[in-house]
Amino acid sequence: MSILIVDDSKVIQVLLSTTLKKAGYVDLLCVSSAQEAFNFLGIDNQERMRTVVKGVDLILMDIVMPVIDGIEACRAIKENEFMADIPIVMVTAKDESEVLQLAFSAGAVDYIVKPVKKQELLARVRSVLKLKHEMDRRKSRERELLEVTRQLEEANKTLQRFSYLDGLTGVSNRRFFDDTLLKEWRRAQREKQSIGFIMIDIDFFKAYNDFYGHQGGDECLKRVARAINTVPKRPTDFVARYGGEEFAVVLPNTDIEGVMVVAEQMLNDVRNLAIVHERSKVADRVTISLGIAACIPPKGKGFEQLIKEADAALYSAKADGRDRFKSS
Ligand code: GH3
Ligand code: MG
Ligand code: MG
Repeated sequence: MSILIVDDSKVIQVLLSTTLKKAGYVDLLCVSSAQEAFNFLGIDNQERMRTVVKGVDLILMDIVMPVIDGIEACRAIKENEFMADIPIVMVTAKDESEVLQLAFSAGAVDYIVKPVKKQELLARVRSVLKLKHEMDRRKSRERELLEVTRQLEEANKTLQRFSYLDGLTGVSNRRFFDDTLLKEWRRAQREKQSIGFIMIDIDFFKAYNDFYGHQGGDECLKRVARAINTVPKRPTDFVARYGGEEFAVVLPNTDIEGVMVVAEQMLNDVRNLAIVHERSKVADRVTISLGIAACIPPKGKGFEQLIKEADAALYSAKADGRDRFKSS
């Protein structure tokens, strides 16, 4: 606990500091003018201010001083955001209500009248320091609370992100698909815009699993998912894992021609991965089949029909020989 005494009278400085020291307050500093106090606190030096101000728990400030009086000095300190929390007790020869009024409106918390009575000085210093201590504790608790709240928000965001991701492939999961397709469907309905949709299924994947093992299958799924996921470029487009080795792609504001371009690209990109598939009956590598659909959502209808159409198109792509896309 450190106390700064500001008084142009050496006699008062000695009197105050001796009394306080005897009472156990050893960390004291006396200065003779407001300017010296400012210099010590670093009022023109932010770096110094930040370190020094933290250590000052109380200022005892004389009112009548040459150049800058105690009231002006008090106001300057209180107006400074880094110093505003330091309590200031005025030490005054004038027990006049007008002066004290000025002192309080400048931000002083209390005052002591000269000639200073020892017991009164100690009682006031004790109570102000106690208050300061309590305020510091409360502020630090508030800061902690703010920090904890910030961390919680961060954790929530991360949690939400993960709760929408498929653990194996890293693309969006079924939950995200259900939530987001509904939103995009409604938006397209409102704006009378076409919404595109693709259903994708890996060809002969059961045989791939049987031949390369489940782990090999998982690895293949991840690579295919990554390839598919990098094709759509608009921020509202998304790829989701729909089921085991099936993926769904939602393309807002896209008509069937646009969906075809995306499907063609996915088809090629998966082929170009060149993942060897000895048991495929259509190629020497892993391929996909795609069913595509697009529509302007009819009033009052849900998106089920769109999914049904893409599903039927996928079935037809499979029946036609796989490794291709078909539209409904
Ligand atoms: P088709 O060309 O007709 O699609 O033949 P297919 O063998 O791929 O048939 P289907 O699409 O019905 O196969 C689904 C298989 O995908 C079943 C299972 O072996 C495999 N599978 C589904 N989910 C996973 C998964 O999470 N990991 C792995 N490794 N395999 C999966
Ligand atoms: Mg399947
Ligand atoms: Mg399949």
